[in-house]
Amino acid sequence: MGGSAVVVGGGIGGLTAAIGLRLVGWEVTVVERARTLDDAGAGISLHANGLRALDALGVGAAVRAAARPQYTGGTRTPDGRLLARMDGAALERELGTPIMGIPRAALHRLLREALPAESLAVGAEVTSVDRSDASRVRVTAGDARLDADLVVAADGIGSRLRSQLFPDHPGPAYSGSTVLRGITDSPVDPGSDFELTWGPGAEFGHIAFADGRAEWHAVLNAPAGVRHPDPLAELHRRFGGWHDPIPALLAATRPDAVLHHDVNELLVPLPSYAVGRVALLGDAAHAMTPNLGQGACQALEDAVTLAAALSTGPTVEAALGRYDAERRPRSQSVARAARQAGRMGQRLSRPAAVALRDAALRLAPSRVTVRTILRHADWTPPRLG
Ligand SMILES: Cc1cc2nc3c(=O)[nH]c(=O)nc-3n(C[C@H](O)[C@H](O)[C@H](O)COP(=O)(O)OP(=O)(O)OC[C@H]3O[C@@H](n4cnc5c(N)ncnc54)[C@H](O)[C@@H]3O)c2cc1C
Repeated sequence: MGGSAVVVGGGIGGLTAAIGLRLVGWEVTVVERARTLDDAGAGISLHANGLRALDALGVGAAVRAAARPQYTGGTRTPDGRLLARMDGAALERELGTPIMGIPRAALHRLLREALPAESLAVGAEVTSVDRSDASRVRVTAGDARLDADLVVAADGIGSRLRSQLFPDHPGPAYSGSTVLRGITDSPVDPGSDFELTWGPGAEFGHIAFADGRAEWHAVLNAPAGVRHPDPLAELHRRFGGWHDPIPALLAATRPDAVLHHDVNELLVPLPSYAVGRVALLGDAAHAMTPNLGQGACQALEDAVTLAAALSTGPTVEAALGRYDAERRPRSQSVARAARQAGRMGQRLSRPAAVALRDAALRLAPSRVTVRTILRHADWTPPRLG
């Protein structure tokens, strides 16, 4: 069953949805409001489920070649004591791959390259979706109207399409955490592939890249909207006394390279990811906190599952019904688990609770960490076609 599709949003979710739909014979136009297609974030960790989805879409090998496997690292206290070791080799034995770290810009470029340039329409903001004709669906972007057999709402956490389709849904909520991120300006030696350090109400983490640079992120409990005139100076003040390589990573970053965003999530789960001929996907459907590194991986699962459902039809509505049934329970359970991981990790601030958590982590064997990751990362993509 082929047809025409408009994908609203050219993030990781939208681009991979477009790649999947093309693989199963659909004509696709991606409509992106930004004038240039890019991802301004810092770095991303891809778990086995995300990598397997990329394999199914035919881009896994290119992404792996540009990424760095995470074999070494773990979780530490601010003075550098190890709480839990991350055993990348054990994960590889279980899943066939360790977690891989990659700059978002590199991942986004590889996804763009898998699509013909003429299928990408940039600088066009979709303002509405019209479902009044049951046999077609129409989106409006400025003066342009696009008719299609299918619309994929991949317009991110602030999804305008989601608010139109679910006017009673409260939309995203602030998680209570704010995140500052950056990529070092030049190669550094952070001593491990991936690390998290937890202090009371604060986390500092890094992902090492294949080119020798590293991304770092600092997450803090804070009221929504707090900003600092000099974010890097504030980070040196907050984290300058934490263990190596944290001060060195901050020192290797340009002040103008620091990004600062509040972490929002869809606290109230959506009742459906399919409305007639419209499918919701990625953060538009299930924006979650980043505590499990699963948000984009879930968007990748969505993309493959959507393409597989549409390849067997028999109608768009029936295929979207199966897509919803397969994706909603899993992605919403991962979102709940991510929120819970945040509560037990970065968000925990009372000293007694932090001490108890740290003691439990120190005592747990490393296979417990592996099992926690396996619970979400061991996913097998459906066949396309
Ligand atoms: C700090 C942090 C760290 C993270 N780390 C990880 C990680 O390690 N691993 C992982 O798997 N996930 C991670 N995530 C989650 C991941 O970043 C997101 O889940 C993922 O990027 C969502 O992709 P998306 O395409 O659904 O949405 P987005 O990336 O938000 O893309 C939406 C696109 O739609 C466009 N758009 C919006 N509205 C319109 C409109 N009306 N018309 C046209 N275009 C529109 C936007 O410009 C944007 O390009 C992290 C998230 C955060 C905040």
